[in-house]
Amino acid sequence: MSTTIDEILQQGDFSKKNIIALLQTDKIDRNKIFTHAAKVKEKQVGKKVYYRGLIEMSNICSKNCYYCGIRMDNKNADRYDISDADILDAVKFAHESKYGSIVLQAGEISSPSFTKRISKLLKQIKELSNNELGITISLGEQPDEVYREWFESGAHRYLLRIESSNPDLYYKIHPKNKKHDFETRLGCLKSLQNIGYQTGTGVMVGLPFQTYEDLANDLFFMKDFDIDMCGMGPYIEHKDTPLYEYKDLLMPIEDRFTLTLKMIALLRILMKDINIAAATALQAIDPIGREKAIKVGANIIMPNVTPGMYRDSYKLYENKPCTDEEAADCTNCMEMRIGITGDDIGYGEWGDSKHYIKRIQHGLV
Ligand code: SAH
Ligand code: SF4
Repeated sequence: MSTTIDEILQQGDFSKKNIIALLQTDKIDRNKIFTHAAKVKEKQVGKKVYYRGLIEMSNICSKNCYYCGIRMDNKNADRYDISDADILDAVKFAHESKYGSIVLQAGEISSPSFTKRISKLLKQIKELSNNELGITISLGEQPDEVYREWFESGAHRYLLRIESSNPDLYYKIHPKNKKHDFETRLGCLKSLQNIGYQTGTGVMVGLPFQTYEDLANDLFFMKDFDIDMCGMGPYIEHKDTPLYEYKDLLMPIEDRFTLTLKMIALLRILMKDINIAAATALQAIDPIGREKAIKVGANIIMPNVTPGMYRDSYKLYENKPCTDEEAADCTNCMEMRIGITGDDIGYGEWGDSKHYIKRIQHGLV
């Protein structure tokens, strides 16, 4: 087996069969994948990590994804919506700390007033930072014209995970109705790409009912879609969600963690120049989980700059790290953490996806 893994990596023969074999590797062989991915990362995007200060602006959500702790029907979620002034304070903190970019994330709300509010915030962020901060948004499915308005207001990256590229699995983890429609989600991703956003997607790894073949197909989906960025994290069960019922079907959490690292490493090998985030959910499993992801191919980290009092309520999954801290506590901690990976931090840089930049040069945007 071990020569086979070497051969696959050396020959670059990433057929579905081979990807499935790579996803199932044991410790010795998986380290070969990790070493290979680290080399690809160093050569293609350098040993550099870019910060995106994450603002979890609201946990109010109109959807009912079966896996998510802030789904609309979870009556135990303590709902909040941070004021614009407090959001701008968090932005100011990120800017002063020389984080190159911020991410605005929230539950999914679609309304004219929400659209307007975000457009105004985007313009304020641009102004407040003298256009120095890059802006990623992750605000779910929206009509094409809303994506366009936000793009024109200053957002240039969008994160919308496909969650699973297999429609059958998608409908096992979402209600089967108009509000949770696979084709709509796909359409949204297309829309984002057409408008000119750096487009990010990703999946959860280790979901109940998910197979290795599903994961291999997810990697091919991202490649075929020609994404610019990826955020991929382990699925972590939340007791107040319908999917919790299937917790006995899950692989042990450490295995979901390792499998996520393999997915990150393989994606780095398959899509050499994209931006890959080290998801926060990795840190919920292993205190240095994100640093491990950086070592095997990730190059983006999202330090939480949400004011401390709200952090505990943005609980998509259990065991969320750093909920009792304030943004300022994160800065030194992050620097020390990145230090152990041997990478540099791109302070004050946007750290745009090199893949996107090449797409522009080739007239594909
Ligand atoms: N509402 C927006 C953004 C917030 S949710 C959206 O859905 O796009 C951001 C991501 O959190 C989701 O895409 C999902 O992949 C992840 N997430 C939600 N619940 C999770 C869980 N239980 N375990 C791991 N990741 C989860
Ligand atoms: Fe809402 Fe996003 Fe959670 Fe789905 S994943 S319930 S859209 S916050």
